[in-house]
Amino acid sequence: MGTAILEPQVKNKIRPTKPFVPDLVYFEPRALEYPKGAKIMEWVKSQNIPYRMTTSHNRITNLPGETELEQYKNAKRTLVVGVRKTLTFDQSKPSAEYAIPISTGCMGHCHYCYLQTTLGSKPYVRVYVNTDEILGAAKRYIEERAPQITRFEAACTSDPVGLEHITGSLAELIEFMANEEFGRLRFVTKYHHVDSLLNLEHNGHTRIRFSVNSDYVIKQFEPATSRFEERIEAASKIAHAGYPLGFIIAPIIWYEGWQEGYAELLQKLEKALPKGLKDLTFEMIQHRFTKTSKAIIEKRYPKTKLEMDIAKRKTKWGRWGQYKYVYPDDQQTALREFITERIFEHFPDARIDYFT
Ligand code: SF4
Repeated sequence: MGTAILEPQVKNKIRPTKPFVPDLVYFEPRALEYPKGAKIMEWVKSQNIPYRMTTSHNRITNLPGETELEQYKNAKRTLVVGVRKTLTFDQSKPSAEYAIPISTGCMGHCHYCYLQTTLGSKPYVRVYVNTDEILGAAKRYIEERAPQITRFEAACTSDPVGLEHITGSLAELIEFMANEEFGRLRFVTKYHHVDSLLNLEHNGHTRIRFSVNSDYVIKQFEPATSRFEERIEAASKIAHAGYPLGFIIAPIIWYEGWQEGYAELLQKLEKALPKGLKDLTFEMIQHRFTKTSKAIIEKRYPKTKLEMDIAKRKTKWGRWGQYKYVYPDDQQTALREFITERIFEHFPDARIDYFT
């Protein structure tokens, strides 16, 4: 009897988004000399995931798949475990001074993601095992700028929260930065797997931000990421754990009904979050694309509803040496003003870091 009553409920229950488990893993032989590399190998074996060796994490050429699209999809489910050789950090304006490299690539399938272009033919997911060396480089950057604060962004080329159960790298970065008077860490995520970060000593030096958007944008353009409700629940946990919290609304998209969509987003955020949050920040990034990214997106997500009509956009010179297409000034102003007003309506004490 119990089963008969329970069954329909179980069927209707929305399943939690599972942590990423790759279909295939490559190791650089040198990665296995590091404790983190050896630990990942143990995990791979315990999960019965097939693995291969590779001479370099920058050269994975024989990915399975008959067509380019199949290879792309398989690459997104392929993990490469390597040693980060370049310890010169890129700049990461406007959110931080430097990008701290702990992983490159992401298993998410957000249609608009700029990694489509920046990672080019290497969309597989790379994680680096030499965290001590990476932190050594971070320490030097901090010392160079002291007593000014130096901020490091850990999510410039990846979504490290979605890989934390495999690497544990964010935990190491958070604990390192807790003891750095002049160092700060920040990262943004669309995944909700934050439990392993909740009891760490962070000393308020790490700001964790969640990428959020209107229901329409999340449903249309963000497959293979955690659902909105999961992200918000994770954000509450992060706030309860005392971390500085933030939200990135990105990409802000102009579509039929965007006002309702973004108004509802802010309403839902207020309803779901603990009251009286201190030191809450928002960042806003409007949708942009380049001619190159448009061509790649149309190939990889041929049915996408992402509007990329050059005639409806304004050009802006981009740091990648190409024009990017943003919204015309009147639309930008409308988006910025409307969403800013909604933010302050629901979170009067929040700070808006930038709109770009
Ligand atoms: S989760 Fe972030 S990094 Fe991953 S595909 Fe989506 S936008 Fe790109």
